[in-house]
Amino acid sequence: MKRNTFLTRSALGGLYLLLFSLAGMLYGQDILTADERRWLAEQPVIRFAPAPNYPPVEFFDENNEYQGITADFIKLIDQQFDLGLKLEIVQLASWSEVVAEGRSRGIDMWGAAEKTAERSQYMQFTRPYIRLPAVIIVRNEFAGEGIDALKGKKVVGIENYASYEHLQEKYPHLNTLPVPDIETGLRMVSYGAADAIVATNAAAIYYIEKNGLTNLKVAGESGFEWNLRFAVRDDWAPLLSIMQKGLDSITAQQKRDIYRYWINLDSSSGSGRSTKDYLLIASVSGLVVILLALLGWGLRRRARLKMQRLTQRIEEQKKREEELKNLATTDELTGTYNRRAILDMAHTNYQTCLDEDRPFSVLLIDIDHFKQVNDQYGHEVGDRVIRAVVNVCSAVLKDKSIGHIGRLGGEEFVIILPKIDQMEAHSVAEQLRECIEKEPIEVVGNALYFATVSIGLASLESTEKFDELLNRADLAMYQAKKAGRNRVAIWRERVTG
Ligand code: GH3
Ligand code: MG
Ligand code: MG
Repeated sequence: MKRNTFLTRSALGGLYLLLFSLAGMLYGQDILTADERRWLAEQPVIRFAPAPNYPPVEFFDENNEYQGITADFIKLIDQQFDLGLKLEIVQLASWSEVVAEGRSRGIDMWGAAEKTAERSQYMQFTRPYIRLPAVIIVRNEFAGEGIDALKGKKVVGIENYASYEHLQEKYPHLNTLPVPDIETGLRMVSYGAADAIVATNAAAIYYIEKNGLTNLKVAGESGFEWNLRFAVRDDWAPLLSIMQKGLDSITAQQKRDIYRYWINLDSSSGSGRSTKDYLLIASVSGLVVILLALLGWGLRRRARLKMQRLTQRIEEQKKREEELKNLATTDELTGTYNRRAILDMAHTNYQTCLDEDRPFSVLLIDIDHFKQVNDQYGHEVGDRVIRAVVNVCSAVLKDKSIGHIGRLGGEEFVIILPKIDQMEAHSVAEQLRECIEKEPIEVVGNALYFATVSIGLASLESTEKFDELLNRADLAMYQAKKAGRNRVAIWRERVTG
């Protein structure tokens, strides 16, 4: 449990209270009675436990700061009416804990709770100030809409959430299962561990985006609507009255501003928000749906549209990540796989061939007398020669639809040939060697250079490790060098040319 203090303005205590009451009396503006003011002044601290992860209503951000629609309502009420609320924000792990602590008087106040008969035994509730419909979220391939389509399916809901209790009571035939939070439930649906989740669209979209769960969609409304209220312990009647008066005194425009802040994606920059805030707003962009629902517009169509847009955005993000990944696996000079990528790929392919009892061959290629190319024509021409050799190899492999080439470093390359036995690999190697030797490479002016390579070949013979196989190919390549270069050497018990 984490506690921090919020909205402290208590030090001036009695004097402040007296002055404000006087001002209130003079101008007739104070919304609180003298008794309520006194109660607030005498109250040492109000232990307040928000729902820890229920964006955009209330949640703790990455800095563990309390945020959301409810947080803004409290701040506004506190400041506008100079309440001097001495709130101690208690960060609990789950909504279940929030409820339990309320029941045992471990905390004194909730920010956004549904009123239920059980909770009414120890808490008192204000009138609702946020209304949110709960929707049914399923995987894309799910056919059907509405609660009836969930018959016989595994439906998850959030433990101790009124929406979950509502499901259990109203639809006892459903196969329901509690989860600790929305995020867990959404992941279960996405990964196939459950078929559907009933949750607020707004919160769901926030976590869908956060987790990149592209395979989800809305399959209708659940019939349940959240009516979220402030709640205070039932022996603190003055606080209930204070919060209700505060809520009642907030103007419609102020309410709209708060909803818009947390809902509206398209608010342009320059609004004074930090980048972090803007990102948060962008990430809850789907929440425009709430506003529409609040305004009485058709939720379902909008929700689907939002979900589609969200899916599209996640797909774009994936594409960008893919591009970045490509950068990390590509050799910059030649555009082929880099050392790490080709060796990763080699290990995987090698293991498969080993498991399936298939052949596997590897070629180690080194350009002959390459240092001389650099010395004679310069480094840039050297680079051109490296690229030309790779291009020839890639074209041959592509033509034959076999193998992959990667750069090990400098002028050395490896070609992996999964499912190719030694005889076929030898013929591939010979073909590569010949094509390279015949490839004219422009060096300076019209002068042409013909590069040659030495190739070592090793094939899977017993249950050795890939690294041992590569080592044998390397030994064979050195034998090819020793034997005069521009040739292929096969590793056998004794290397032969
Ligand atoms: P051998 O026939 O025995 O393979 O001789 P070699 O000259 O090809 O081999 P050596 O290993 O002596 O030289 C390789 C040279 O490759 C040395 C290094 O400067 C050069 N080299 C390494 N990476 C690059 C590169 O990215 N671009 C260029 N232009 N040269 C490189
Ligand atoms: Mg070398
Ligand atoms: Mg060389």
